[in-house]
Amino acid sequence: ETLDKGLEKSKTTFFSKLSKAVAGKAKVDDDVLDNLEEVLVSSDVGVETTLKVIDRIEARVAKDKYLGTTELNAILREEIAGLLAETNVGNETDFTIPEGKKPYVIMVVGVNGVGKTTTIGKLASQFKKAGKKVVLGAADTFRAAAIDQLQVWADRVDVPIVRQDMGSDPASVAFDTLTSAVSQNADVVIIDTAGRLHNKVNLMNELTKIKRVMQKVVADAPHEVLLVLDGSTGQNAFEQAKQFTLATEVTSLAVTKLDGTAKGGVVIGISDQFQIPVKYIGVGEGIEDLQVFNKIEFVDSFFK
Ligand code: GDP
Repeated sequence: ETLDKGLEKSKTTFFSKLSKAVAGKAKVDDDVLDNLEEVLVSSDVGVETTLKVIDRIEARVAKDKYLGTTELNAILREEIAGLLAETNVGNETDFTIPEGKKPYVIMVVGVNGVGKTTTIGKLASQFKKAGKKVVLGAADTFRAAAIDQLQVWADRVDVPIVRQDMGSDPASVAFDTLTSAVSQNADVVIIDTAGRLHNKVNLMNELTKIKRVMQKVVADAPHEVLLVLDGSTGQNAFEQAKQFTLATEVTSLAVTKLDGTAKGGVVIGISDQFQIPVKYIGVGEGIEDLQVFNKIEFVDSFFK
């Protein structure tokens, strides 16, 4: 139900646009397709993905000769589910970590304000609930507030945190965190990093250095580079995904703030366009408001 509630705004807005798009039309014709294209783009599905969906519906219109507008919901649901099914996204059902990697190292990247710290706190809580020993690393040393906020979450979830003073070398914090995690026999390490997109060369160098230094402790770290994106920013989230994937190898995505936004379509577009699995979605500020992203549930709840 949290997912349904989280997507409420996206859904209501989408269906009201959709009903305007087909108003007074019995069958899907070129006009309806044009309107539908606009609805999808304005729902932040993204241009590329919208065109794919429109192509698929056009092909169906051509094949079936007649497509009633009353069936459009069901057809859209099918085509979007089909599109997501082909993408490398949303097959997880649980907060699990792969076997055989101990500690499993997650490096978290993203610009300030997207919900990075909150997502780390929520994840730590879920992993801890699953019986895992979690250690946090405050490698966003650029802002004192970032370190303090992570500390607040560490206290709240009651997991250890490794931190140094503001301005210290992020790679050194990451090194200390992994060393401490290994000595404590921890299962999961989550490393927060600074996301200063305005200086791309610095960002790239910093992330590369953090990775290199971590590998002195855990040879194949990080096992996951999780990019956090604010779903309520629509096209900005696409742009950030683009920039971060240029700066480092991003292996998974968390899309936050899907509650209270009408831009839920962004999840569909981003999954399709970047072919990076969306693993988690944020649907509120509370500690429980992080969900493992499951594409079937997502599409179902969007079209229910
Ligand atoms: P950071 O700067 O990226 O670390 O961002 P924070 O984790 O500090 O989050 C920024 C703000 O977004 C805070 O007020 C969070 O409570 C809020 N936030 C984070 N995730 C979500 C979410 O999924 N839904 C909502 N509504 N707010 C969120």
